[in-house]
Amino acid sequence: MKVHPWNIPLWRRLIRDPAQLPHALLLHGPAGIGKKAFALTLANWLLCERPGAQGPCGECPSCAWFAQGNHPDFRHLEPLEDESETGKARKGGRPISVEQVREVLEFTVLSAHRGGWRVVVLHPAESLNAAAANALLKTLEEPPAGVMIMLVAHRPRRMLPTVLSRCHKLAVPLPDRQSALAWLAERQGTHAETLLSEAGGAPLAALDLADPERIRRRDGILAALASPMRQDWPAHAQALQTHITEGWGWLSRWVHDLLACQAGGAPRYFPAHAGAIRALAARIDPARLWGLRQRLLHDGRWLAHPLNGQLLLESWLLEYHHASEGP
Ligand SMILES: [Zn+2]
Repeated sequence: MKVHPWNIPLWRRLIRDPAQLPHALLLHGPAGIGKKAFALTLANWLLCERPGAQGPCGECPSCAWFAQGNHPDFRHLEPLEDESETGKARKGGRPISVEQVREVLEFTVLSAHRGGWRVVVLHPAESLNAAAANALLKTLEEPPAGVMIMLVAHRPRRMLPTVLSRCHKLAVPLPDRQSALAWLAERQGTHAETLLSEAGGAPLAALDLADPERIRRRDGILAALASPMRQDWPAHAQALQTHITEGWGWLSRWVHDLLACQAGGAPRYFPAHAGAIRALAARIDPARLWGLRQRLLHDGRWLAHPLNGQLLLESWLLEYHHASEGP
């Protein structure tokens, strides 16, 4: 278990003095930058019998159990799998329940099997429901001796303030572009630049986007958005009808970049199309573009269950087309 290279400075700072480690820690930062790996590595390190400055030894019995996912002094709390109507399991669909938290709290009051730390990693902390969060409060306030509870959150503002206030907060920053690109290029050579931008600079999120079919769909729709006057929008909507969330994401980011350029800034998500985006930003109707942005934000809430994804996508694209005709 290792932290990602861009998180090594944070790692060194945190483990410099293990006696000073907080017992209720909240790791927060954008999705896709390695927070969970960081928390798991720290858990592994705390449990390791020969921990080094670089991380856990990877060879002791404790590390072996940890790697197999059955260390007796460790609990990893995540939302249970959700059974959707199609029978396909989907992770993260449910909140972390009060029953799950109670089970973990019982674990924290036992004595450690190996005589060292007992560690809990809870991820993502936003998925604690209110009852589960309340059940956790007392333990966060006064963790039993030798217990370390790590919460990992992408959006801490969605958490209960009572939980937030009881944790030591550690911000995991977005990596600098160079480190992120170096890591990503080893795994995703040709598309590293565009994927990293599309993911807002988060390298693990970028890697998740690296499916070649998805890249092909993305490049198709971006090319269309770049020259909106000559497009068969219903055909584009049909091509993306089973990828409505992707289509929504690309259009939303494209509109974001257009608005950024109209405000005198630079495109954040699609810098490879900067020329086209700047040219469009100069002539597109700002009021209609703003209206489309509001509509995309609104419609985004219903994406999981659209009545007719293709029609929805088509109506956004037509609205974009009208905006691009200018005021
Ligand atoms: Zn070890």
